[in-house]
Amino acid sequence: MPTDEPKQILLSPPHLSGAERHFVEEAFRTNWIAPLGPNVDAFEREVAARLSSDGAEMHCCATSSGTAAIHLGLIALGVQPGDLVLCSSFTFVATANPIRQLGAEPVFIDSDDASWNMSPTALRRALHALAAEGKRPRAVVTVDLYGQGCDYGAISPICEEWGVPVLEDAAEALGATVHGRPCGTFGAVAAFSFNGNKIITTSGGGMLASCDARVADRARFLATQARDPAPHYEHSVAGFNYRMSNICAGVGRGQLLVLDERVARRREIFAQYRRALGGFEGVEFMPEPAWSHSTHWLTALTIDPARAGTTRDAMLAALAAQKIEARPTWKPMHQQPLFSGCRMFTHDEARAPVCERLFRDGICLPSGSSMSDADVARVIAACERTLGGGRSAHGVEPAVAAARSV
Ligand SMILES: *Cc1c(COP(=O)(O)O)cnc(C)c1O
Repeated sequence: MPTDEPKQILLSPPHLSGAERHFVEEAFRTNWIAPLGPNVDAFEREVAARLSSDGAEMHCCATSSGTAAIHLGLIALGVQPGDLVLCSSFTFVATANPIRQLGAEPVFIDSDDASWNMSPTALRRALHALAAEGKRPRAVVTVDLYGQGCDYGAISPICEEWGVPVLEDAAEALGATVHGRPCGTFGAVAAFSFNGNKIITTSGGGMLASCDARVADRARFLATQARDPAPHYEHSVAGFNYRMSNICAGVGRGQLLVLDERVARRREIFAQYRRALGGFEGVEFMPEPAWSHSTHWLTALTIDPARAGTTRDAMLAALAAQKIEARPTWKPMHQQPLFSGCRMFTHDEARAPVCERLFRDGICLPSGSSMSDADVARVIAACERTLGGGRSAHGVEPAVAAARSV
């Protein structure tokens, strides 16, 4: 094999701390190779402690995936067949699947330009329109996209005014804050993911969080086959096998110790990309409002083909050729064949949905916290070459920029 072959740069690979081994070995030593066990209890307490603040204690239930936590969260909010559930359109499919799986119908809400997250204006429009039809949604599912919390300063009062509870999909946002308050504390219930590609991982797992201890207790009950208290196996409702294993929770405990470092590194990577590429004409990074402290789980940006002189897809191809893994931003749910026919509310009927543009032009760059500065520089160089044909905002002529990039 040639040694000068550049190594593949992945989008967001796991990044171990080394401390995971201690907790996993403890599990082996004590033969807790089972679902549940001391690591699970401790991991729940430790995540809850991170989310809690003075006077607002949080309660957690560790699950086999973030999707399972969303499913249990919707059940906690009483979602039933025939219900309407408002849901951010610009997200990963796992946000919306459990809505359908409960027999409820998602109604999608557009993003706003300022945060790329659920538009408070579109949300209000949906609530008014549905009320005019005599309908009230059972829940609102917000998504803290790419690790950035939603505009809860606007969204929370709207949901309170209408009496509709919020499920916060914070799968990508453990360690983020909005107005200084941790993401995962804005809904009546929230879900985190510890999939291998997230900020921290348990190799696969999730966490339901709530300020209501009864919600977390009920989730634990449903996630362990809903066994009624009895010496034999007694069941009065249908449960799930959704609990996290004691081994996975051990990995999670070792990861949680370095959460702040992982978030700091992802934010640094975002800043490096923005410094280098933000000046190119037609390039716009996901904005971070003053009230937001994002994890920047993935660095996301849009490339306006009319101004950049290149396209998102050309950029993806150029990066792939350099063995750099990048991805389009999420394809909105209302554009998915799976959800064809579902309703969608924008903040201005006269305009095309914001999230359709964010998908058409959007790209996520490699953002793993284990990336070296040299890795980031390699991605930047490949991006600059593709953008070189366009004009930079610093007024460099295309020919000069092209010559410079050779
Ligand atoms: C990863 C992710 C999920 C699903 O989490 P899993 O642990 O993979 O089930 C849900 N929502 C969003 C926004 C995600 O990024």
